[in-house]
Amino acid sequence: MASSDTRPTGGQDCEPTASEILVVGAGAAGLSAALTLAAHRQESNCRIRVLEASDRVGGRLFCEEVDGFHVYGGASVIHESFATTRDLARELGVELRQSPRKKGGQSYAGGRFWGLYVNGSLRQTLSSLRTMVFSPQHTLAGNWEFMRLFTMLKKRAAELDFEDHSRLLDLDTSASFAEFARANSLGRYLAQAGELDLNCFTAGSSKEVGAAYGMALLWLWTLNPATRSYLPRQGIAALFKALADACSDYVQLSTPVERIILEDGRAHGVVTASGERIEGDAVICATIASTAARIIPGLPEELTAALERVRYGSCCNIAFGLNKNILAEGSHAGLFPPGSPTFLTMVTNLAATAPDAAPPGKTMVHALVIGAHAQTLFALDDDEIVRRVVEEMRRFFPAMPERPLFARVFRWPQALCLAPGGMLRDMHDLRGRLSSCAPGLFLAGDYTRVPSLNGAMKSGVESAQASLSYLRGL
Ligand SMILES: Cc1cc2nc3c(=O)[nH]c(=O)nc-3n(C[C@H](O)[C@H](O)[C@H](O)COP(=O)(O)OP(=O)(O)OC[C@H]3O[C@@H](n4cnc5c(N)ncnc54)[C@H](O)[C@@H]3O)c2cc1C
Repeated sequence: MASSDTRPTGGQDCEPTASEILVVGAGAAGLSAALTLAAHRQESNCRIRVLEASDRVGGRLFCEEVDGFHVYGGASVIHESFATTRDLARELGVELRQSPRKKGGQSYAGGRFWGLYVNGSLRQTLSSLRTMVFSPQHTLAGNWEFMRLFTMLKKRAAELDFEDHSRLLDLDTSASFAEFARANSLGRYLAQAGELDLNCFTAGSSKEVGAAYGMALLWLWTLNPATRSYLPRQGIAALFKALADACSDYVQLSTPVERIILEDGRAHGVVTASGERIEGDAVICATIASTAARIIPGLPEELTAALERVRYGSCCNIAFGLNKNILAEGSHAGLFPPGSPTFLTMVTNLAATAPDAAPPGKTMVHALVIGAHAQTLFALDDDEIVRRVVEEMRRFFPAMPERPLFARVFRWPQALCLAPGGMLRDMHDLRGRLSSCAPGLFLAGDYTRVPSLNGAMKSGVESAQASLSYLRGL
């Protein structure tokens, strides 16, 4: 067993012979791993230590409270099918509310917004029909292709599962979603709606997103009219806070890991950026893929290459506190298809699903900018980003005030995993091979499952379980 460290950790009351499990990264995956390990701490006699590079936990799940507003910097929505996430929320005592069945957003084309609503009021249904017939973004052929894709994906619904992705792996060829669309004559649907949807869900394009992942995303978030999302009344911030609080005893902030030690054919601990060697009997690496490739130098070349092939889209997310809603009534998003005369991709307001995310009488919107436009913003300071984004929003949403109650900028150079074609299978195979080529090392993170908050949490739970059974076998 690893030599016990005198530094306080969540395992300080354990016996000196306790096994030490190190978790690298305190995002959703790392925290879910720590939570799972903590639940088994007594019986497994293990010490848990989570080493986080930055000065805050949460990674891409980070939220903060600003003047009574529960602002989210990254993930915002939990889907009905996210069973692991819902189980963890239940365990943490966080109540999730089903969103109203109505779904609706407005897409910009030809100088105005056009509404598309699912299960909406009669007025909204008429508005949707008008969009499908008259919007310059829509064509009859595109609508027909949309119906064909709907039928195609409905037949495959059981395979497009974010919780149990075993059948999705069979669909995961090297093809991108753009290639899949071309092969199935879905080009007009892609131009009309699919490309925009993929931009919003991945911060990337159909050329970058794998065909299987693209199908799963589109079925999950837009095409399947029966499903709903879930959120706590305060929004995802309530889940973030409960998870962060439950793991606070185990987390060591501002401790970047430089290297995971693989010696004598197994994982032995880590070396931090300050040169400290921390011994561990098992290591769970819960960073993004490119960091994992960098900090695990002893892996076989082809496994490192597979990690390096994982790609992410960039996104700048800017949150604003407001006195009143700026979006059309009944619409939760204003969307800008590629080629729109703006650098904005989406402006959202989740008030319908999370009514307590803002104080009474106030509301909150988030503006998302992706890809090359996000990279341009990253080079600016926060005040300049806010100034440019407010100015741009006022061109399209006249009710947007010049001076919002507050603004917060979140920069995500690696925001959303694009799961390029073949990645899901590669990561599945890689996890299988690790047990023989690097026993004691476990990979977690959204990219190791179906990328999403649920994929991250599921990977954390499963890697914690795997590390415990590994230690039992030592
Ligand atoms: C704007 C945005 C909106 C999103 N919306 C949704 C949504 O609505 N629904 C959904 O399901 N998903 C959404 N996602 C995706 C979701 O947030 C992620 O899939 C999930 O949070 C990823 O968690 P993770 O733990 O795998 O990775 P991360 O959150 O990236 O965590 C990795 C952690 O490792 C730390 N780290 C990195 N390097 C080191 C090192 N060397 N040593 C120690 N620590 C290190 C990082 O600081 C970070 O805390 C969104 C993401 C973004 C950015």
